[in-house]
Amino acid sequence: MAKQEENSSNDSQKIQRRHVLPGDCLAAQEEFEAGAGAVIYGGNVVASRVGEVSPDMAARTMTVKPSRQDLAKLPETGDYIVGTVQSAASSIAQVKIEAINDIPSSKELSGMLSMRDDRRRRSSSPIKPGDVIRAKVISTTNAIYHLSLDDSHCGVLYTVCSFCGGRVVALGHGAVKCAECGMADDRMLSEDFIQYSRSVR
Ligand SMILES: [Zn+2]
Repeated sequence: MAKQEENSSNDSQKIQRRHVLPGDCLAAQEEFEAGAGAVIYGGNVVASRVGEVSPDMAARTMTVKPSRQDLAKLPETGDYIVGTVQSAASSIAQVKIEAINDIPSSKELSGMLSMRDDRRRRSSSPIKPGDVIRAKVISTTNAIYHLSLDDSHCGVLYTVCSFCGGRVVALGHGAVKCAECGMADDRMLSEDFIQYSRSVR
């Protein structure tokens, strides 16, 4: 009995189910929309991560799915992770690692984020529980994933107002201001957040 995967594949799927790298062209923009793992660039649908192309012919969407190997990858020194802050004190935070180098992780690992007061003096934590952050893996000693925000790609990617839960906009690099209640609060923001914040203002 053949495996189910083999049963479901046909010739056209074999052609399209190929491994791609970020930047590889998947289809013309007129033919397909960009799904997860793909972006529109220069009139084409282009892969934005390493993986396997998975076209949805009915929805006309090109998706790039991470391979099973990538999903099971462990963080290594130099990798960038995306995760949710679970608890935070002024200089240390626990982070649930959800993606490694923008590929979703199936491992449910935790990281330990140390925050030196590099960018400026502060009294409260520059990240809050529930924030989504990008951080760099700086060490994996003793199987503890030590994380740092000390890189321009790193910092808060998504957050809401700590006082009312409202939408916030960047106030420089180290603070946000609530669009609902007007309160300002410390946040160590990523460049992505700052750019996005400018684009919606
Ligand atoms: Zn607010």
